[in-house]
Amino acid sequence: MPLLLKGATIITFDPISIDQVDLRVESGLISERASQLTPGVKDEVIDLRDRMIVPGMVCAHTHLYSTLARGMPAPPRQPSNFKEILELVWWRLDRALDDETIYWSAMAGALDAARAGTTCLFDHHASPSYITGSLQIIRDAIEKIGLRAVLCYEVTDRGGTHEREKGLDENLAILSWVKSSLSADLKSQIQIADSASKRQSALFRGMVGAHASFTLSDESLDYCAELMQVFDAGLHIHVAEDRWDVLDAESRYRLGVVERLAKHNAINNRTILAHGIHLSDEDIAIARSAGVWFAHNPRSNMNNQVGYAPVSKFGDRVVLGTDGIGADMFEEARIAFFKSRDNHAGVDANAWLSVLGNNQRLASEAFGVDLGNLRVGSAADLTVLDYSAPTPITRENLSWHLAFGIDSASVESVMVNGSFVLRNRNAAIDEQSVYEQARVASEKLWARLRKT
Ligand SMILES: [Zn+2]
Repeated sequence: MPLLLKGATIITFDPISIDQVDLRVESGLISERASQLTPGVKDEVIDLRDRMIVPGMVCAHTHLYSTLARGMPAPPRQPSNFKEILELVWWRLDRALDDETIYWSAMAGALDAARAGTTCLFDHHASPSYITGSLQIIRDAIEKIGLRAVLCYEVTDRGGTHEREKGLDENLAILSWVKSSLSADLKSQIQIADSASKRQSALFRGMVGAHASFTLSDESLDYCAELMQVFDAGLHIHVAEDRWDVLDAESRYRLGVVERLAKHNAINNRTILAHGIHLSDEDIAIARSAGVWFAHNPRSNMNNQVGYAPVSKFGDRVVLGTDGIGADMFEEARIAFFKSRDNHAGVDANAWLSVLGNNQRLASEAFGVDLGNLRVGSAADLTVLDYSAPTPITRENLSWHLAFGIDSASVESVMVNGSFVLRNRNAAIDEQSVYEQARVASEKLWARLRKT
């Protein structure tokens, strides 16, 4: 049934626009946008007076597997540096994951994302004791919640060649699945014109995942590059999150981290480089000329005490990620803003609105459909906000409302591909049961962790 969203203020981030118009949603897309649209006989009319509609938020770098880490048992000793944070916390956690905990971490993580107004996740997954089929489990969970996602498995040599091979195969599996379902859709589209909302493959894409330069051999990088080439895919990788990554590339290969990726043809304009805190100017120049996306994760960087990324040098392809600390992009953008102020980074409030717009641009490129402009033909991925502003909202001051007012507590309804995943603050699935089962799974996970 077509939906007619009436009376809301429609807002976009980049370019900034604020319009009082109605939207008609049909077959997963915005089919009409005009003031005072007349309801058709088939329309379900939704009154959204005093509400704002923004394009669905996108998280450009996350790890759903870390959802069940919240409040987990303390590591055997306090990590004293970033490498020890990986060894004592994250690499113990990801190795303890099994099919059940992968599923419930993805379910609870995706539900948290929906409740925060986030409609699309770029997930970077690792579960070395359960690699084969892990992305299918995550896909099943995200599909139940109803979000879009771009999935990959973190290829690494840290667990030896056998695990490395399985990681590569898992990327191959998701990329092949997307490719074959897209071509199947193309065939069915010719037969059935109106199949957009039924197409599951419309909501998933793949990338080639890789952990970080310091855990990847030359051979592994070559394999990743081969997958990128065959599937025209981007690499999703951590770079220079800590100085360790940079020192390793210099001492073992006499190269910068990005220079090393470029030498192996493992970089292109679909690539996401997460963090980039300690990149040299030379590496940044190589990355920029390849047209990569730089994913800035300010909360994670502060939490790991790894430093402040040189965001002002990254150019105009900066996106925001949470690095697994939920998927609340209103909060991530707000903290990005405050941290840039604190750091005298010369990045103004409007720039963070543009970055949120970039997140939607990144997703639009991945899915081949507009996800950031809420115009006719855009996918109907949108978030309805109940935000009572005590001051006028204008194009000139929108970024200040974002910095000081609008947050995920304002999220009232969320739509992905024309279907509500959250409506009037209620999820399309039984929320309490998801969190209850996630808690049961997390206790099992933590019991395994205590034994390691
Ligand atoms: Zn990460």
